[in-house]
Amino acid sequence: MSRRSQKLVEYGKPLLLVREQVPTAPPGGAVVQVAFAGVCHSDVHAADGLALQAKPPIILGHEISGTVRDLDPGVKSDVKVGDRVVVYSMGGCSACSRCAEGRPIDCLNNVRNVNGAFIDGGFSDYVVCPDSKLLLKVPDSVAMDTACLLPCSGLTAYNAVTKIVPTVADVARHTDNCAVILVGAGGLGLWAVQIAKQLLPSNVRLVCADVDVDKLASAKDAGCDVTVHWEKGDNERSLVAATRKACGASRCAVAAIDFVNLPETFSRVERILGQGGIHAMVGIMAKPGVVGTIPLTPFVLTNHTLAAVAVGRVQQLEEVMALVANGKIKPPPISHHPLESAWDVLQMLKAGKVKGRAVLKLSKL
Ligand SMILES: [Zn+2]
Ligand SMILES: [Zn+2]
Repeated sequence: MSRRSQKLVEYGKPLLLVREQVPTAPPGGAVVQVAFAGVCHSDVHAADGLALQAKPPIILGHEISGTVRDLDPGVKSDVKVGDRVVVYSMGGCSACSRCAEGRPIDCLNNVRNVNGAFIDGGFSDYVVCPDSKLLLKVPDSVAMDTACLLPCSGLTAYNAVTKIVPTVADVARHTDNCAVILVGAGGLGLWAVQIAKQLLPSNVRLVCADVDVDKLASAKDAGCDVTVHWEKGDNERSLVAATRKACGASRCAVAAIDFVNLPETFSRVERILGQGGIHAMVGIMAKPGVVGTIPLTPFVLTNHTLAAVAVGRVQQLEEVMALVANGKIKPPPISHHPLESAWDVLQMLKAGKVKGRAVLKLSKL
C-alpha cells in the first residue's frame, strides 16, 4: 500500500507530490491515517526556510486529525486502532519527566520531534506519531476539520490566554476598569477572543487591534467589546492614544497578547500596558534577526512581565478540545482543499488571501 505526500525538497520551491510505502508504527508510536491537515503560517515560513528549522526533504504539516491505523502493541496507550484522534505535533524525547508530564515543548533533553519540521508531517495520507501519548481522542461532537486546528492555533491561543489570567484576575479583583488588548484578529485572534470570554473575569473589557477592518468586524462578531483600527501609516502617537481610549476609563491595558509580534506592535503594546501589566508574545511574523527594543529603565519601573507563548501543553489541548466539544468556542471559517493544491494554498496564505483557516482534506472518514 502506498501513501501520497507533499514533500518540501528545496526551500522556496513548489512541494513535490510523492508516493511512498505506508510506514508502520515505530516503538512507542503510532501511524495515523490523516483526515485533515491544517495549512499554517508556520508552514509558509518552513517552506521558505525561515522558521521551524525544517530541513528538506520533509513532508510539511503539523495540524493533523485522523484515524489510528497502527499502534506499537508493546505500549500502554489511551487510544486504540480505529480511534479518531488529533496529533500533538510538538513532540520531545518522550523519556524525560517534562515529556512525561505532557510538556514536550520544554523537553529537558532539548529533543524536537516535531511533525512537519524535524520529522515528516501531515501533508500526506498517513503520518507517523513518534509517541502514542501525543495522540488525543476527538469527541464525536467535534468535526475533524475543526479538530486538526486545535493542536496549533487553538492550543496556542488557549495557552496565551491562560498566561494572562492571573494578572487580569488580580486587577479585576480591585477594579472594573480592566482592559485586555489582543493584537491581530486572524485565526489565532478569533480563537483568543472566545477563549478570553470563557476564562477571564466578566468585567474585563476586551479590545482588539488590527490593520484590517474586515478582521476587526469578525473579532466583534466573535465577542470582543471594542475594536481599534491600527491603520498602516498612521502616526504612532495617535495610534497609541486611540488604543488607550479604546481601553476605557483606565486608559491602559492590564494585559496584551500580541499575535503579530513585529517591532512596531511590540513597542506599541509596551506603551499601552499599564503598571504591572503582562505582555504575552505569540506571533512569529518577524524574520530571523529582527529585534524589538524596550527602554530598559522605564521597563523595570513599569513592572511589566514579558511572556513567550510557544504552543502549549498536552493537558491544555485536552482543555481546549473540551471547550469546542461543549460548544463554548467555535472555529474560524474553514475551507477544504485537495492534497495536490498544498503549494497553492501556501502561496494564498503568504499573500494574505486565506479567510479563516485552510485545511487539506485527505481521506473520507
Ligand atoms: Zn500551525
Ligand atoms: Zn523530553
